[in-house]
Amino acid sequence: MTALQPLIDSIVSDMRKMEDKGRVADYIPPLAQVSPDKFGLAVVLADGQVLTGGDAEEPFSIQSISKVFTLTLALGTAGDQLWRRVSKEPSGSPFNSIVQLENEQGVPRNPFINAGAIVVSDMILARHEPREAIGQVLRLVRDLAGDDTIAIDEHVARAELETGFRNQALANYTKAFGNLHNDVDRVLGVYSHCCSITMSCRQLALAGRYLMLGGRNPETGRQVLSAHRTRRINALMMTCGHYDNSGEFAFRVGLPGKSGVGGGILVVAPGVASIAVWAPGLNAQGNSLLGSLALERLAAGAGWSVFEGG
Ligand code: GLN
Repeated sequence: MTALQPLIDSIVSDMRKMEDKGRVADYIPPLAQVSPDKFGLAVVLADGQVLTGGDAEEPFSIQSISKVFTLTLALGTAGDQLWRRVSKEPSGSPFNSIVQLENEQGVPRNPFINAGAIVVSDMILARHEPREAIGQVLRLVRDLAGDDTIAIDEHVARAELETGFRNQALANYTKAFGNLHNDVDRVLGVYSHCCSITMSCRQLALAGRYLMLGGRNPETGRQVLSAHRTRRINALMMTCGHYDNSGEFAFRVGLPGKSGVGGGILVVAPGVASIAVWAPGLNAQGNSLLGSLALERLAAGAGWSVFEGG
């Protein structure tokens, strides 16, 4: 294994020199305004050591990475009943696609595409007010990271709701099949606010520690989720975490990961490390272009892969 800090430093300097940085998401102004030159990387090891590089302290919009945290919360409350309403198969389709919902009677392919996360948001909402449901997700993320300063960007949330016509279509279509129990606007309020959580790479990597530690939050010593369910979240991150790019990501990086359209990726080397990368420019499938490349180099350099023969 290459020494980690020099490896991180060389990845940061290589990524800064790349000419093709991908395209920053432009569907809402607060994301379109982010500089494509940003690049941050944070690694938290199982022993608690934190290593960082580049813009690792700068907060960004975690977007679909929040789907991991909402799933964690919903699994904790709904348990395995959740899988009656959301499947576990890779979609092979874009994150906001509606096509499979008709054939599959309003049961989304997995919890990491928009339709799936909207159903998960409906479960979190259950009998609560949207404000309480959003508060629960934020509390979970703050507890996991051990950082009460983590917040929701209300500008992003408002812009998401004002332009979220596809998400409205997905929610209404799911509701037509009886797989959404609450009012569409209330569910989308929860969904969009979760997408609008703002975190730095350091905070995100800290929040991901439970995924490498069999569900235990080292901050509090408490079990966030059973080891069994945590392993399953990692499996879904591997197979579905990058939409129609999940196979390529598994092939190149070999670790479970979840991307967001803000350019962040949370990655887990089970038992070894929780990693967060941020590079706002995206590839054609809406995943961070340089983030994926950086993770490929980090995993190769550090010798991390869940497919290692040992
Ligand atoms: N807020 C975005 C949406 O709902 C999240 C998508 C993503 O990060 N891939 O479209």
